[in-house]
Amino acid sequence: MYVYADNAATTSLSPRALEAMMPYFTEVYGNASSLHSPGQRAAEALQQARETVAGAINADHKEIYFTGGGSEADNQAIISGALMGARKGKKHIISTAFEHHAVLHTLDKLKKQGYDITLLDVHENGVVTPEDVAAAIREDTALVTIMFVNNEIGTIQPIGEIGKVCHEKGVLFHTDAVQAVGHVPVDVKALNVDMLSMAAHKFHGPKGVGALYARKGIAVANVIEGGQQERGKRGGTENIPGIVGMAAAIREATEDLEKDMAYVTGLREELIEGLSRIPHSRLNGDREKRVPGTVNFCFEGIEGEGLLLWLDAKGVAASSGSACTSGSLDPSHVLLALGLPHEIAHGSLRLSIDKYNTEEEIGHILKCVPEVVDYLRNMSPVWDELEKGQTAHLI
Ligand SMILES: *Cc1c(COP(=O)(O)O)cnc(C)c1O
Repeated sequence: MYVYADNAATTSLSPRALEAMMPYFTEVYGNASSLHSPGQRAAEALQQARETVAGAINADHKEIYFTGGGSEADNQAIISGALMGARKGKKHIISTAFEHHAVLHTLDKLKKQGYDITLLDVHENGVVTPEDVAAAIREDTALVTIMFVNNEIGTIQPIGEIGKVCHEKGVLFHTDAVQAVGHVPVDVKALNVDMLSMAAHKFHGPKGVGALYARKGIAVANVIEGGQQERGKRGGTENIPGIVGMAAAIREATEDLEKDMAYVTGLREELIEGLSRIPHSRLNGDREKRVPGTVNFCFEGIEGEGLLLWLDAKGVAASSGSACTSGSLDPSHVLLALGLPHEIAHGSLRLSIDKYNTEEEIGHILKCVPEVVDYLRNMSPVWDELEKGQTAHLI
């Protein structure tokens, strides 16, 4: 049995999304900007997809800008907010230390351009509070950008309340909702957000396509110069098959959301209970305030890379955190932001499941992980010292 438990890195393309996409690779290949009928058929599909995506998050179709994925939407949102602030002489931006690199690296770039960036610390449970945000807002704050669901540990932030704080103080609010859309209810009006990012491949849509929601009144900055596509905010011939696939996937992910959430939460609870029985293990992030499918554990004395390779050999695809950093030996910036020591932040395991996973698969994971942890600990000189009491346990 081989179990795919890395849905926070990417998901499979749903059969329904694939089916919806197929005609747009072959029969309907027109350029949506062309005036002839093949072009107009593509333009109609684009419009329909825009309405579907907007409807899924309670937005208007004029508030959706298709992008080349989640990273691009994050870049575009933050640059838009920064430029809107700068026009009023406001160059302070607030975010958190555990954002995705698409956010953190965009903020690094803005810092070099003279913006002042405040990265809030995250509480040990992996949550930032509205009070933390309120305390950081200044006269010159232009933008707050805080992720909805953390991609490494799965914790949910109180986005609606944070948005309320921002709006009371007249500050723009963006959320990276790439791990939230299709997994928890997302209503841009109820959440008080001005901008929101999403990516199709995190909810069983195709890779390389995403969207930025920007409410009416936001001056969206174009990060790709070119033609008049996306109301002049994103040049380049539209990826019609990808966009159609995204719309089909978001419809499918949101139509039975409550039922799917209950099912996935049940599987996740089994995982948490099973993995917690491993001695000297710890669940990272709040037990309750989390997305249904993601869990992140540390096992003392275990280094993440070895764990992942052995799990793969036994038939479990997992991650040690963000796919972008798992090739490096740096400890996770997310776990460090929670205040975990370096030794522990090295050795985390992220399992991200969803509605396509089964009971049997959870059983397989719960058989493999303890075996591999035991095996690696038995080989480890560090573990030997811990067991002999020569060093103290951290977990
Ligand atoms: C995956 C992810 C991104 C990046 O999305 P891409 O479509 O891969 O560019 C951004 N933010 C979060 C929270 C993510 O999980």
